[in-house]
Formats: sequence, C-alpha cells, structure tokens
Amino acid sequence: QYILAIETSCDETAAAVIRNGQDVVANVVASQIESHKRFGGVVPEIASRHHVEQITIVVEETLTKANMTVSDMDGIAVTEGPGLVGALLVGVNAAKALAFAHQKPLIGVHHIAGHIYANRIEKEFSFPLLALVVSGGHTELVLMHEHGSFEIIGETRDDAAGEAYDKVARTLDLPYPGGPQIDQLAQSGEDNLNFPRAWLEDGSFDFSFSGLKSAVINTLHNAQQRNETLKNEDVAASFQASVIEVLTEKTYQAAKQYDVKQVVLAGGVAANKGLRHHLTQKFADESIELSIPPLWLCTDNAAMIGAAGSIAFDQGHRAGWDLNANPGLDLEKYSERSK
Ligand code: ATP
Ligand code: MG
Ligand code: FE
Repeated sequence: QYILAIETSCDETAAAVIRNGQDVVANVVASQIESHKRFGGVVPEIASRHHVEQITIVVEETLTKANMTVSDMDGIAVTEGPGLVGALLVGVNAAKALAFAHQKPLIGVHHIAGHIYANRIEKEFSFPLLALVVSGGHTELVLMHEHGSFEIIGETRDDAAGEAYDKVARTLDLPYPGGPQIDQLAQSGEDNLNFPRAWLEDGSFDFSFSGLKSAVINTLHNAQQRNETLKNEDVAASFQASVIEVLTEKTYQAAKQYDVKQVVLAGGVAANKGLRHHLTQKFADESIELSIPPLWLCTDNAAMIGAAGSIAFDQGHRAGWDLNANPGLDLEKYSERSK
C-alpha cells in the first residue's frame, strides 16, 4: 500500500511517499524558517504564499525521488488541521486536485495524530500507549487503546511547551525558532535560578508554562535593575530543567496509572536533547517501552502524516470532495470518526 502525504499546516511545505504505513520511500521538507526569522515568528500570510509557490515543486520532487507517479498511489493523505487556515488550505486543495484528477481516495489527517504516528515509522505500537505531545502549539498526554483512537488525559492550560521555549528565547534576544537555541545553551549552563515547577493539583496531568515564563522574565528584569548580569546559559538551563522535570514526571505518573505498554514522544520539542535524555533515564529500569523519534521526524514533515493516514486508510476512512481546512480540528472528535 502506497500513500502520498502532504503537510502544510504551519511553516513547512512537505510531501512524502509511505509504504505500508511504516516505510519512508521519499520525504521532502521545504522549510520557510529563513523567511519568518526577521519577524521573530511565523507570519501567516507569508506562510501561505510560500506554500503556494512550493507545493507543486515539493510534490514533484517527492514523486521523482520515489521513482513513482500519482497513479502508483493507493491514496492521498493530507493534514486537514489544526494549523493556520491559509496554510492548511494550500495542502488540502493540492491533495484534492491530485486525488480528483487521478481518482484516488482522499484521507484527511489530524496534525497531532501525525506527530504521534511519526514514532511508528521506526517501531510498531503496543497498546495501551501513552504519547507525550510537545510541539509549537500543543502540550498534551494522549492515551491510545488502539490505532486511530486518541484520548487526551492532560493538556496545557496556557502556553504550549514549544511556545514557552520560543517566548523565553525571544526575551534572551535569540533568533526564531528559539527551542533549539535554548536547548544548545542549556547544555553548558547550570540549573541555579530556582524557577518554579508547575505541578498543579495532585493527580492532575495538565500542564502550565505561563508562570515559568513570567518567572524567567521577572528574574531577568530584577537582575537588570540590580545591574547584575545573568548568564544566558544558566537562564536556559534553569528554564529547561523546570520544563523537563514536569514533563518527565507527569508522563511517568500517567504511564503507571494507565498501565501502558509503550510511551512515545512526539512534536517539535521531542527534538530537545535534555528531554530525550531525561525520559530515557526515567524509563530505563521500566518494562514500559519508550520510543523517541529520530530528529528528522520530530519537527513538521509529511512522512508522519502518511504514517497516520495509512492507518486511517486501512480503517476505511475516506474524505469527500468537500474536504476543507479545519484550523481548530479537535483530536478527540477526529478520533470518533475512526470508530
Ligand atoms: P503544532 O504541531 O502544535 O501544530 P508546530 O507544528 O508549529 O505546532 P512543531 O513543528 O511540531 O510545531 O514544533 C516546533 C516547535 O518545536 C517550536 O516551538 C520549536 O521551538 C520547538 N523545538 C524544536 N526543536 C527544539 C529543541 N531542540 N528544544 C526545544 N524546542 C524545540
Ligand atoms: Mg514548524
Ligand atoms: Fe507540528
């Protein structure tokens, strides 16, 4: 079974050909980071324009690399949401045009389901499975009892983890996207600033990062007023230690409580060296299998959309010609559709 997958939810124009849901035949990602850098974040209008310019080129390059044509495909999968509406529309319309022209089944995929399924490219899933999703717009613990079924057991009440990284990076005058920069600085800094850990109520699997973000800003501000200088490395290390401790501990508690067989890490922040290291240590002596995707599958790509789309295809899920961009698509509602 061959699936052509397309992803344009944010600032990466991406396409991939996936065989049997797990083999990456070809994978192309055209990143727009350079165009958004000088604005310090993703500018939706610029993102849409780049997607329009890139989509045909990226799909053609993918098929060329795969040495295949659209007629060789069994279906076409596309991210239908969540994301930027103008960005999603480019991918959805490209997928619809290709599917219609070649009379191929069309499959709408939830972007976060894609991030989770990035893990299945390297390792088969064992259920019940717990996913720690940490990306630019999402931070959630997702419980899966079977393929295509997603239950959110905890989520952020304010900022997403990636968003917190990007905001703190901006306070330190680091270029966008700030996550990798903070990660880098943290390697040579010390966790000596005593930033708070947001545990929330006892037993809650929810997250909160806005208090930590304010603590970072206040600490920098106070130091400035006292004419002291803090080392960026220490700010980064202290911030990262707080984020990682809460993410790791809550994931561990949830994994125990729900008696899961496998824990998977998903989303752009899964690229974080500190997080990868701490999770690995935390689960080292456990019978729970921990899966951490390779770096190229952490940030946005279409291979992961193909992996999730392949399962949806097998489950008989087909989108109609009225498939639309769905910027606020809910993961649990998407999950209902596969039942
Ligand atoms: P979503 O998936 O929620 O729709 P998105 O697609 O914009 O959001 P991703 O591409 O999954 O987000 O991830 C991008 C985020 O990951 C950015 O916030 C970026 O700073 C963060 N990130 C990337 N690498 C690292 C890293 N090494 N450490 C921490 N954060 C990182
Ligand atoms: Mg991105
Ligand atoms: Fe993403």
